[in-house]
Amino acid sequence: MKRDYWNKPTMGLWERLYIFEVIRGLCITGGVFFGNMWKWLTGRRGALTACYPEEIRSDYSPANRGRHLLTQRAGGGVQCVSCHMCATVCPAYAIEILSAANLDDPMHPKSPERFEIDYSRCIFCGFCVEACPEDALRMAAEVPDFPGFDRDDMRGRLDLLLHWRPASDPAKAYAATPAATLEVHS
Ligand code: SF4
Ligand code: SF4
Repeated sequence: MKRDYWNKPTMGLWERLYIFEVIRGLCITGGVFFGNMWKWLTGRRGALTACYPEEIRSDYSPANRGRHLLTQRAGGGVQCVSCHMCATVCPAYAIEILSAANLDDPMHPKSPERFEIDYSRCIFCGFCVEACPEDALRMAAEVPDFPGFDRDDMRGRLDLLLHWRPASDPAKAYAATPAATLEVHS
């Protein structure tokens, strides 16, 4: 049986005639295409496309969520209690966690032995940050800088996530660490 939905779109006569809307769409696409081509031919940068990863844009939107970091406890240990809520909520199945028992800390008996975010999958939606009950996972709005020619290079691993010190996330004081493992590309 055919169902009617509450948000079923209604089309006017012009849209139902179809061909005119197709022509209008082609005109818009063609206008942008030739406009950008003209800018490139006259030495100006028109298109927004960058040859990533050789070319990295610096003009990210202020709404850019950036990339993840794991927060630490005052003593320097990882704040994550390995509850897997972030991995469960992730729509891109980008988070992998291997839990370990932490018998030294009865208040937090589990912690991640391995925590990886696969940036070849991540869509930077921020759901994982919202889901975390411990404020253990954040995103800092700095340029997501994970160029790589190998999928394995695009994994944010525990060490990287834990030791990154973003300038744009001053909300928590981070313990001093030895040299961060992050290579920042300028
Ligand atoms: S930002 Fe979204 S896609 Fe990326 S790891 Fe978090 S929940 Fe998954
Ligand atoms: S980062 Fe947060 S949500 Fe994810 S496993 Fe750790 S405590 Fe749970």
